[in-house]
Amino acid sequence: MAEIRDSVARRLTRDHARIVEYFAALIAEARTPRRTTAPEAIVAKLGQLVAERDAKVSDLATRYAVRVSLAPAAVVCATARTVNLTFRLRRRKAARDLVVRLPAGARSLDRPACDGCPATTARPALCDDRLHLLCEQCVPSAQGRPRCPACAQSR
Ligand SMILES: [Zn+2]
Ligand SMILES: [Zn+2]
Repeated sequence: MAEIRDSVARRLTRDHARIVEYFAALIAEARTPRRTTAPEAIVAKLGQLVAERDAKVSDLATRYAVRVSLAPAAVVCATARTVNLTFRLRRRKAARDLVVRLPAGARSLDRPACDGCPATTARPALCDDRLHLLCEQCVPSAQGRPRCPACAQSR
């Protein structure tokens, strides 16, 4: 999903910039009309342009919303042995458990899910305040205090 989401986000940003630029040109033109125009007419025209621009910008959110639907294709019932490892994560006075799974036949542990984004991570970092587990993209540098997207969402 990440690739699709990024490409949609890029197109949204591009369209947003295009609309803002287009209306900025129209607004500049309306402010300094070539023919003599009554000031009230200029004000009315500007108001109309701003409203039109805002409507187009707010339409973007609906136009570029990503809708994901999942449908089960088949159901398979199987019993498999797994090893569940429980890690106790501590930071200052806070602690939380992290269960990591090693499925039968797998050569590495299942990567735990990031609390800040839809990714998974092999090298998790913890946020300072609530011990959210974060991926390398959410915490690109191990230096300093990480800005936690999971804490930001819950605020
Ligand atoms: Zn993340
Ligand atoms: Zn956090």
